[in-house]
Amino acid sequence: MTTPTDRTPASCFEYQRAETWADAVELLGLWDGEAKILAGGQSLIPMLNLRLAFPGALIDVNPIAAADPRVENGRLVIDANTRHRVLTTSDAVRTHAPLLAHAVQFVGNVRVRNRGTFGGSLAHADPTAELAAITLAMGGEIVVLGPAGERTVAADDFFVTYLTTAVGPDEVVTGVRLPVAEDARWGFHEVVRRYSDFATVSVSVLARPGAAGGSPRLRVVLGGVADRPVVVDQELLAPALSDPGDPDRARESATAIAESLDPDTDLHATADYRRRLVAIHTRRLLEQVLGDEGGAA
Ligand code: FAD
Repeated sequence: MTTPTDRTPASCFEYQRAETWADAVELLGLWDGEAKILAGGQSLIPMLNLRLAFPGALIDVNPIAAADPRVENGRLVIDANTRHRVLTTSDAVRTHAPLLAHAVQFVGNVRVRNRGTFGGSLAHADPTAELAAITLAMGGEIVVLGPAGERTVAADDFFVTYLTTAVGPDEVVTGVRLPVAEDARWGFHEVVRRYSDFATVSVSVLARPGAAGGSPRLRVVLGGVADRPVVVDQELLAPALSDPGDPDRARESATAIAESLDPDTDLHATADYRRRLVAIHTRRLLEQVLGDEGGAA
């Protein structure tokens, strides 16, 4: 096998198929950081087309079958190669992670959802990705396999910065485990310029019941406001939780959250516009989820 050095955007690449995740790890090791995993190809192939990536080899993991999403030990288990489309139709996902079943409909378009995979979306780590935000909102963990064996990474520790995660160059994502949330109240909003665009801003809210009638355990995750999805500090949620459903308290939290952000200005939106979107949509979702209408989108 040739392992190229001095690669340029014009270089050819090898194509190899992995029949198991262990094969994929072995092949990654042989290429010593020069190879890329090819899953649904919905982010990687555009990056190759644009010459933003020029790997020595593509290791195709499509031969590795994904089992249906299922519940094991109180966690919804989703294999890495599960297509986005499966998340929209799976009864297990709808029942145990309705926030995920809802939000995945906002990923791209039908063509993208037919090919793209959960593992690919997490590994790609776009700061606006819906599946990353929901994995964080649900407090999930990501299963990673490498030469030293399997390890799990809490979603809170997984996303490092733009297109960068805690997965090493010789490791693969094999699956995701999400604490079930069938009794949670939830909401998801995203603002896009056109249908199928990446989110300008997204807000995910999940409220699990508190112990013995206490305050709900609330997680709010924002997409499109930083170099990775952002989990909102619990301190900023305190006003909303102090009087759940009170619009003034919800507004207080939402305003403080928006003011705490330092988003980028880019071609699509200014930093101020992003903060404004966060304030509006977070307020609406906090009112809805903590008030009487919880559970709906
Ligand atoms: P690939 O493109 O095959 O791979 C992406 C990256 O992850 C590569 O670096 C690859 O090496 C790595 N990788 C893949 N699988 C693994 C694994 N198991 N272990 C380790 N590394 C791995 N995404 C959104 O979130 N929201 C959107 O609104 C959205 N809109 C889109 C619109 C269009 C028109 C297109 C083309 C794409 C869009 N996407 C969107 C991206 C889409 O969701 C991708 O499917 C996803 O980001 C990557 O998944 P994939 O399986 O296609 O991965």
